[in-house]
Amino acid sequence: MTAEQFADRHIGPGRADERRMLQAVGYDSIDELMDAAIPEVIRWHGTLDLPEPAGEREAIAELRALAAGNTVAVSMIGLGYHGTHTPAVIRRNVLENPAWYTAYTPYQPEISQGRLEALLNFQTMVTDLTGLATANASMLDEGTAAAEAMTLARRASRSKSCVYVVDADTLPQTIAVIGSRAEPLGIEVRVLDLDVEELPAEFFGLHLQYPGASGAVREHRDLVEAAHAVGALVTVAADLLALTLLRPPGEIGVDIAAGSTQRFGVPMGFGGPHAGYLAVRSGLERMLPGRLVGVSRDADGNAAYRLALQTREQHIRRERATSNICTAQVLLAVMAGMYAVYHGPDGLRVIAERTRGMAARLAAGLRAGGVQVTDVAFFDTVTAVVPSRAAEVVAAAAERHVNLRLVDADRVGISCDETTTGAHLEAVWAAFGVPVFDGDGDVALPPALRRTSDFLTHPVFRTHHSETAMLRYLRRLADFDYALDRGMIPLGSCTMKLNATTEMEPVSWPEFAHIHPFAPESQTAGYREMIAQLEAWLAEVTGYDAVSVQPNAGSQGELAGLLAIRAYHASRGAGQRDVCLIPSSAHGTNAASAVMAGMRVVVVGCDADGNVDLVDLDAKIDKHRDALAAIMVTYPSTHGVYETGIASLCAKVHDAGGQVYVDGANLNALVGFAKPGRFGADVSHLNLHKTFCIPHGGGGPGVGPVAVRAHLAPFLPGDPGAAHVGGRPAISAAKYGSAGILPIPWAYLRMMGAQGLVRATGVAVLAANYVAARLREHFPVLYAGNKGLVAHECILDLRPLTKATGVSVDDVAKRLIDYGFHAPTMSFPVAGTLMVEPTESEDLAELDRFCDAMIAIRAEIDKVGSGEWPAGDNPLANAPHTAAMVSADEWPHPYSRSVGAYPAGVQRAGRYWPPVRRIDGAYGDRNLVCSCPSPEAFED
Ligand SMILES: *Cc1c(COP(=O)(O)O)cnc(C)c1O
Repeated sequence: MTAEQFADRHIGPGRADERRMLQAVGYDSIDELMDAAIPEVIRWHGTLDLPEPAGEREAIAELRALAAGNTVAVSMIGLGYHGTHTPAVIRRNVLENPAWYTAYTPYQPEISQGRLEALLNFQTMVTDLTGLATANASMLDEGTAAAEAMTLARRASRSKSCVYVVDADTLPQTIAVIGSRAEPLGIEVRVLDLDVEELPAEFFGLHLQYPGASGAVREHRDLVEAAHAVGALVTVAADLLALTLLRPPGEIGVDIAAGSTQRFGVPMGFGGPHAGYLAVRSGLERMLPGRLVGVSRDADGNAAYRLALQTREQHIRRERATSNICTAQVLLAVMAGMYAVYHGPDGLRVIAERTRGMAARLAAGLRAGGVQVTDVAFFDTVTAVVPSRAAEVVAAAAERHVNLRLVDADRVGISCDETTTGAHLEAVWAAFGVPVFDGDGDVALPPALRRTSDFLTHPVFRTHHSETAMLRYLRRLADFDYALDRGMIPLGSCTMKLNATTEMEPVSWPEFAHIHPFAPESQTAGYREMIAQLEAWLAEVTGYDAVSVQPNAGSQGELAGLLAIRAYHASRGAGQRDVCLIPSSAHGTNAASAVMAGMRVVVVGCDADGNVDLVDLDAKIDKHRDALAAIMVTYPSTHGVYETGIASLCAKVHDAGGQVYVDGANLNALVGFAKPGRFGADVSHLNLHKTFCIPHGGGGPGVGPVAVRAHLAPFLPGDPGAAHVGGRPAISAAKYGSAGILPIPWAYLRMMGAQGLVRATGVAVLAANYVAARLREHFPVLYAGNKGLVAHECILDLRPLTKATGVSVDDVAKRLIDYGFHAPTMSFPVAGTLMVEPTESEDLAELDRFCDAMIAIRAEIDKVGSGEWPAGDNPLANAPHTAAMVSADEWPHPYSRSVGAYPAGVQRAGRYWPPVRRIDGAYGDRNLVCSCPSPEAFED
């Protein structure tokens, strides 16, 4: 071993630990274990063709060289992506802080109060600025938010029409995404220039952009009324910075607002990640897709936050869900919300006025120099008319390191932002060949378009304006939360492994952060080279022929993969194939995605061992033979087992003319040992935020590349920014999706190399089997495959104990907090169980600490079962214990304070204290509050 082996840092257990773990599981080597666990029919025995692993410094040097292939120019392209100053206090203490970026989605709200508060700030920011009632806790980008707004309108509209009207002055990439989402659902999109064209007689929804892509700010009131008159809903894609000055959509009766919060301190990142938003008027909140943070109360009646209305979501509603969105953009939503907290309403207004002032001066200078500028109200973007000279002007600006938007041969778009300076304006004037202009522009907005209402009036937006106050606020919230920087997060199916600092560092380099997705190709060679390498490595790892990194979450990869299958069948005259078989154990996104791809979901049962029931599969194939489009299976299964029937499953579906989709969320159990593209699957999505080390960010960002065999490659996502997507779908708004975080998986693969990846998979499987071996006699392990082995995760069955003692899976999850752990995945895929995925990154000491805690909890359950502790009042029922609770003057419980606070094995110093007691989720759903509550709500 050289000193430079990154794999030895990434993988928790050392060789001695590994031997002890092997002994407990009963194998002599990892090879032997893997030979026994993985069915030979799918086993791949080659060596991954990847470059020799680089050390951490070497990888950083290579990434520096790739970054140097990008050119950071002044971006005045606009189109929904703007220059912005990330306040350094937010960059370092949120984006670069593992307390924020390694957190999980806040499904355990008691240990997530910090990020839940940050998200509530985000929601409040969006509702205040848009003037609507309820906003969710982020969407994947503006294009997908707009597409979700369309389907929301479809659900809510009383119109029978299938026509969705989109104003022509909408961002072109948004139109592309809307079109791709509409087609499989039978929605007809009509793009109309509403300045001159009439609305059709019937339509169910209308999409407007405010300000328009051209920069024009239009009065929309009449269109809103006309739409409502025929029962249609209106979505306005609004720029939140503009809304500090412009009358918000909610004040003219708009039903839905959608858009991006990128310019609130989140770098462009060549297209992402940044947080999209979606807000609705009152009455629509129960149809809103995505995660929604709300206020509820804890066991003491104190105000506490948690996710609201989860029954709308895919993990509960499956094919009847409001959307397939799962991983969203939490980390970026936290950043945007904090940007508003830091600047406050006055600061935002100043930024907006300065931006607008720059655009006004720019326009005045162009006009003074004889250039025609479109005569409309505008906020930050102007369109200059230069008959047949547009390309020449854009090129002249590029020579001055300024990127402008080439609208067409005669028109140039120029967008100002927070970072625009006088020197930038001078460069633009020079490119147009007009002299420097000294005066000011006219910044007055037409009265009907001016904002008069207050916004961000909650104290949180008026309190943390000094850097000291902001730093402490961020620290206080981070301290409320449990993330990977405190301990293990053994969440089955989520692969919460190390997010190495070296992998993270390049993300904030300007050459990756400050690139506009539509920057000229000559400025993005480094990015494109890195992405091509990453796609090639992912193809090698999975055995597929082509990969697209465009989907910006696993759910979006699913949609992309299913749309590829759909288009493939259609290309062969088999467009009638629309049945998607999905096992009952599948992740909720699978069914929701199939519906979005225009497919009918047919559920296949599981047998007593948890495997796909091959008899039921035969029956369903027979029944739907001519309509069969695909089967969607997860491998290893969501039960954490290498099913031996997978090869015959693939063959059966292929024989019937269907395609095989393997959900690749569990790829951490396969890398280096089996390749889905070789064992019979046609397409998979991967979760780079699981297997390939992008941190979970508290619920995003993610990247969900779609990988396909050659016959599906022509149907992979196209470039949404190009004039013609070429018949390929636009899955997200930018060609490479969340490109800004691709250095993370690149660095992981580059530093692990073939051997490191193989060892990671082996240790992940060993760790899961070690946990299963240690816990089996205390909690039954629900399913196992070959030789009683599990794959990379195991399901602990609590149902018999719950039946005997009344102690629920919830009680155990909350009690684990007292022991200093994040709970495993609860009740997925089987209700009443816990699914544990330790990953390769946890060392033996941490694995043992977890097993010891679970064993101690089992002993506590027995005390409830034996009657020593009453059913309703015991350390499990009362968990988690807060400092306030155990230090209260009153202690009415039948066990001691120390049993509550410091159970076996918990260190007294450094114990993590949750800020609230157990939260009553149902109360908050009955009394829905989804914006910042008044400070009095938190008074004792
Ligand atoms: C995580 C997961 C998904 C969804 O991925 P997102 O990135 O959250 O959209 C799909 N299937 C399975 C099995 C998963 O574990």
